[in-house]
Amino acid sequence: MMMRRLIPLLCATLLAACAGAPQKPSAGSAAKSGADDNLNAVAWTQTAVEHDLILRETYKVAREKLAAALADASWDALPHDERDAPPKNLPPAVILDIDETVLDNSPYQARLVRDGGVYNEVTWAQWCREASAKALPGAVDFTRHAHAQGVAVFYLSNRAKDLDGVTLANLRNAGLPVDSADRFLGLGTVVPGCEQVGTEKGCRRRLIGEHHRVLMQFGDQIGDFVDVLANTPAGRTAVVAPYLDWFGDRWFVLPNPTYGSWEPALFNNDWSLPQAQREAAKRAALRTN
Ligand SMILES: [Mg+2]
Repeated sequence: MMMRRLIPLLCATLLAACAGAPQKPSAGSAAKSGADDNLNAVAWTQTAVEHDLILRETYKVAREKLAAALADASWDALPHDERDAPPKNLPPAVILDIDETVLDNSPYQARLVRDGGVYNEVTWAQWCREASAKALPGAVDFTRHAHAQGVAVFYLSNRAKDLDGVTLANLRNAGLPVDSADRFLGLGTVVPGCEQVGTEKGCRRRLIGEHHRVLMQFGDQIGDFVDVLANTPAGRTAVVAPYLDWFGDRWFVLPNPTYGSWEPALFNNDWSLPQAQREAAKRAALRTN
């Protein structure tokens, strides 16, 4: 029991900065190789029209489903264990992750590729303070439509809470609806009576669910939908298995090949490993048949 609790906690702790913000390599890792890893991923994100089309079609489907979600009082998009009572009669809401879900931070990744750098919290915070990230395709149309239908729009992000001012400014600059500052729930949001596991978002989802029926969730990481307590390829597959029917109806996943918890899942979430060892573990995970 102890180990079963320790392992998820360890994984969750090591996931810090991964769920809502870019990857977290060790400070001493070989920068050049790490950045080169991202060239194709960033180029695809920024230049492939396929990227934009996937975003558009996802938000379009969500918009089309919103009316049915609003009309069905039993429709709820929170994981089963994150709500104590049925949400009937609560006002409707949608929950969206921010980074690579509504805001496009690929220029930050492109700078890392250009400069041979790797993610770190200082340069990430500098990028966030520029408040210049553009909205991803489809995001403004969907969120404005939901807002116009009387649906509360929440932004649940693992951006640090002290980036709240610049984050709210960026959301508004990008044309996304923000009713009030408390629509942004960053890392560090205190949820009384709920013990947050690592950087997982469950407590903050629960907080939103106390006063709202959650119609839909959007994210580029599975942790944006449900707490991930074992960040291994098998654990990630298992945690979404009970909800497969919800994807495309209540949960909407967006592509992010540049970073995410899928990557450290391939090297046991151990960013302290030398870069060459992390790369070897990723290579070992490739299928050739
Ligand atoms: Mg994200």
